[in-house]
Amino acid sequence: MDGFNVNIETSQKLQRRASRLMPGGVNSPVRAFRSVGGDPLFMKKGAGAHLVDEDGNEFIDYCMSWGPLILGHADASVINAIRRTAKNGTSFGTSNKYEVQLAMLIKARFKSIDMIRFVNSGTEAAMSAIRLARGYTDREKIVKFNGCYHGHVDHLLVAGGSGLATFGTPDSAGVTAGAAKDTIVVPFNNLDLLEEAVEKDRKNIAAVIMEPVPCNFGLIPPKKNFLQGVRELCDRYKILLIFDEVITGFRLAPGGAQEYYGVKADITTLGKIIGGGLPVGAYGGSRKIMNRVSPVGNVYQAGTLSGNPLAMTAGIQTIKKLYKINAYDILKNKMNKLNDLLKPTLMKYKGKFLFAQLESIFAFYFTSSTSIDGLDQVANCDMKAFSRFHGEMLKRGIYLSPSGYEVGFLSTAHTDDDLAATAGAVSESLRAV
Ligand SMILES: *Cc1c(COP(=O)(O)O)cnc(C)c1O
Repeated sequence: MDGFNVNIETSQKLQRRASRLMPGGVNSPVRAFRSVGGDPLFMKKGAGAHLVDEDGNEFIDYCMSWGPLILGHADASVINAIRRTAKNGTSFGTSNKYEVQLAMLIKARFKSIDMIRFVNSGTEAAMSAIRLARGYTDREKIVKFNGCYHGHVDHLLVAGGSGLATFGTPDSAGVTAGAAKDTIVVPFNNLDLLEEAVEKDRKNIAAVIMEPVPCNFGLIPPKKNFLQGVRELCDRYKILLIFDEVITGFRLAPGGAQEYYGVKADITTLGKIIGGGLPVGAYGGSRKIMNRVSPVGNVYQAGTLSGNPLAMTAGIQTIKKLYKINAYDILKNKMNKLNDLLKPTLMKYKGKFLFAQLESIFAFYFTSSTSIDGLDQVANCDMKAFSRFHGEMLKRGIYLSPSGYEVGFLSTAHTDDDLAATAGAVSESLRAV
């Protein structure tokens, strides 16, 4: 991080040690700053919208732990609830009342969910949802969309070619050709190509899995009626539709993209916000489908720490507070404010730089496009420019997710001052880039 005008010696020292102990010094690859360059920062404290690193530098955070922290860091009511629950133990390996409470809160907002199963990560939720879909339909193939991320599940770590629907090829070493061959990959926002792929193999397809709004390869809103079209196609061929709402659940709206766009999934995966900052995942659907999960049905799935009282408590408290403070109105107002503050800068850099946003999710793109509705447009963005922008923003105390393919999140804790400082930093950083 040459030219960085804040001291990050402690982070650098920790990173040197970490690199010898953990691959890349990290426990999740994008944290290593490889795609933006520079040194990853070691954080010691979060409060509201702010993060403080081990050298005492303070940042306005828009990564928000990759989405879960919709109330900001260390929300007092969430932390106090965790503390109260933890006094009685962290895990019993038995059922506890918090599982029931969180299940009720989720079911109340997702009309497609009668029953739910908690797991420990979004990855696990996607993996289990796929197994359930295969067990339920007695079919083996699945369809996924290029650029949609569902965690590091073998048969979902599969890439298609650009453009046409293709059989997947492993996107990671260690994923077998066997795992990839049961995955059909299609482009997002193209109903014709999906239909073509599905018709070709209709008797063998168990499920279509998708992020209803892809948020892991930039932010790509679905075209009008695209989700409805996917739903109708799945109904026609009795294929299960899996919505991966790990990001969008309780983010776009309490009932996720399903509530936001009025389209129901057969199986929904959740994570992030429903764990309030602790490790969690979940999958749910109709009683008929979920009754196929063990011990009632023959689709096996289990977890030592699943539904543990701490993660459940953090999720319950987060959701309750979201309702109590009318969080979705607050977030809408804050995003409008940020849009207004950025407007002069965006006008100035029109045709070079784009700020895209959906509710409280946003992305910065270095592109000449005026809107983003496909993978190719994101792929064609100038990621080198983004790297420089990321570094300039960091210098000015703004922590963006360290990759141009990742989105940013507003929380209810971002203040007007934070937003004004951010808009100022964007303007200055663009000048420097
Ligand atoms: C984060 C994410 C996952 C994976 O969740 P983990 O808890 O990181 O395993 C899956 N799907 C989507 C859409 C995600 O954003």
